[in-house]
Amino acid sequence: MSGNAVRLQAIKDVEAFVPPAVSFDPGEEPGQIFGENVFSVSVMQKRLPKSVYKSVLATIEKSTPLDPLVADAVASAMKDWAMEKGATHYAHVFYPLTGLTAEKHDSFLDPVGDGTAFASFSGKTLIQGEPDASSFPNGGLRNTFEARGYTGWDVMSPAYVLENPNGNTLCIPTIFISMTGEALDHKTPVLRSQQAMAVHAKRVLQLFGHDEPENVVAYCGPEQEYFLVDSHFFLARPDLLNAGRTLFGAKPPKGQEFDDHYFGAIPERVLGFMMDTERELFKLGIPAKTRHNEVAPGQFEVAPMFERANEASDHQQLLMTTFKAIAKKHGMECLFHEKPFDGVNGSGKHVNFSLGNSELGSLLVPGDNPHDNAQFLVFCAAVIRAVHLYGGLLRVSVASASNDHRLGANEAPPAIISIFLGDQLADVFDQIAKGGATRSKEKGTLTIGVDTLPNLTKDPGDRNRTSPFAFTGNRFEFRAPGSNQTVAGPMVMINTIMAEALDHCATSLEAAVAAGTDFNEAVQTLLAEIVADHGAVIFNGNGYSQEWPVEAEQRGLKNLRTTVDALPELIAPEAIELFSKYGVFSEREMHSRYEIGLEQYVLSINVEANLTLEMGTTTVLPAATRYQTELAANIAALAAVGIEGDRTMLESVTTLVADLRSGLADLTTALGGLHDHEGIAEATFARDSVLPAMAATRAAADALEALVADDLWPLPTYQEMLYIL
Ligand code: ADP
Ligand code: MG
Repeated sequence: MSGNAVRLQAIKDVEAFVPPAVSFDPGEEPGQIFGENVFSVSVMQKRLPKSVYKSVLATIEKSTPLDPLVADAVASAMKDWAMEKGATHYAHVFYPLTGLTAEKHDSFLDPVGDGTAFASFSGKTLIQGEPDASSFPNGGLRNTFEARGYTGWDVMSPAYVLENPNGNTLCIPTIFISMTGEALDHKTPVLRSQQAMAVHAKRVLQLFGHDEPENVVAYCGPEQEYFLVDSHFFLARPDLLNAGRTLFGAKPPKGQEFDDHYFGAIPERVLGFMMDTERELFKLGIPAKTRHNEVAPGQFEVAPMFERANEASDHQQLLMTTFKAIAKKHGMECLFHEKPFDGVNGSGKHVNFSLGNSELGSLLVPGDNPHDNAQFLVFCAAVIRAVHLYGGLLRVSVASASNDHRLGANEAPPAIISIFLGDQLADVFDQIAKGGATRSKEKGTLTIGVDTLPNLTKDPGDRNRTSPFAFTGNRFEFRAPGSNQTVAGPMVMINTIMAEALDHCATSLEAAVAAGTDFNEAVQTLLAEIVADHGAVIFNGNGYSQEWPVEAEQRGLKNLRTTVDALPELIAPEAIELFSKYGVFSEREMHSRYEIGLEQYVLSINVEANLTLEMGTTTVLPAATRYQTELAANIAALAAVGIEGDRTMLESVTTLVADLRSGLADLTTALGGLHDHEGIAEATFARDSVLPAMAATRAAADALEALVADDLWPLPTYQEMLYIL
């Protein structure tokens, strides 16, 4: 059998694959199924007694504490509704620090002792669950023998029924905490930080004359990039299967240089997948909006409409699970790795965020009149302060071994956290810095004072794809989060640093007003101070340029290139002080997140390194040496009949085989030494010794891929994986 048999079979199977018909009723309106499987506010309104409904609604919309007395009524209505939808089980769904989604399933049926069972679901079971916490990462918060952990219902994120061929499940989004009340998940801090931000946002709004503002919430609209690969190729690549990315693979002759994939025609098969996923997402009440091809071949994007951060991050997790499941149904794998293919564009998750409420809309909309502008400028200035003071925390919120392949690795966006404001807004802040914004760029009216701050037109001006944190007209877009990660991490950071910045603004304005300063003047002073102190973070230039890191350093901005550089930000004294002050994380919780970050980093590199060793030794090396033998045999055969063969190819292959061997040997040594270290030293060793050995091994293997006879090459190539769908 030839060396490429597995690969050839995969190609044949891909070509023979008949995608399933999409279960799509052409007469069906999208609105008809939207939210069909969600225990939504409108379902509650229909099914709950009026007083119960009002009480729950107050919790959802005004964040008033949940009245435990209503829980039984809600639970009973929820169970009946779910059972009508075919649910047999319920699950508390939570988001442990592995970054994945965890579920604890229980049956509705309780045996009653006489051989029969009774469907029950009490308020207590709805509100609280008790999964074993010992197998989830806790970063030293618990000893394994202290296994108790609790899940608690997050009333603000709706329950839903998840369909499955083997039975449906009622899913209840929950927080996950230890017995001592420490957060073991991603949701708890989102809720805590949301609360902290709202307090100070409301203070600012009150200063602007909104006497009793509605609760301010953070909105998040995550754009999700992903790759699709045929399952047959995926299964023929141990690296994709086990690490989610290719650890070997030469760049295809036709890469993304042509940019012909971006917004190009979507392959029929992918369209079928997209229609199917959209339908499923709609049923779950997830408003998936746009779909188009991304820059790289095989890469696509989905962008659900923005929602409250908490709900958006639950939906985001559900979206990823749904995508993976439906891709499988269509004979494909959905890859959320940040860099599945080296040399090809990676995948991010752009977190669009704004603050607001239903009464005032987004507080980051410039608005039409000067008064709105002044309020908008204060919120915008708060963002500038927050990002300047705590850019390191934003950076660490997106740090992972896989995202390191994007950030700081010559790809969008850079690891330096700066803000892009666009020409118009940058100009306004420029004027403020110079003594007050007195005119708009176009109109040129000149009067002093906040009331005459220029009207801003709604158009955000140009876009800047190289900026990690860009103003886009009515929101900021944080472009650094990785494709695979929960948006909860970045949203916790954004909420918390905004809480601090808004607190600062409110305190300064309140003090000035109390001291008798004219409010407009106080605003002007505050804005000028923020621009003076924090304007260094504003950068409208090219974030990929060679000059930027140099300039950023002069400006005092951090360039935390790798996860190992970024993680210590979590335990810096300023960070610990910030998070305890606003009640988002205790010092212990910060340390636990730091430990988990290190642990996950090392774990991920360790797996990849072992895979590199295994594939290099058992797959690549044998193909290369076989070819080497063939070449040598050819030269010998020719020599026997008096012809001199060409030795250059043999020499090249021989050199590369030697390189590959020494790469593998170095990698073995590095891996052997990894666990001699601990904590940050172990992570540093992984970065500085293991990763380079992996890279050297790969370089030799990829060069061999370009030389070895195709009928000996065992692994599906980039060309095949990226272009055959
Ligand atoms: P682009 O590719 O131009 O950045 P998309 O339409 O792909 O834009 O995605 C924009 C994302 O921003 C969507 O998820 C959208 O819901 C979200 N978004 C729009 N307005 C807001 C807002 N005020 N706050 C938060 N997110 C928003
Ligand atoms: Mg975008």
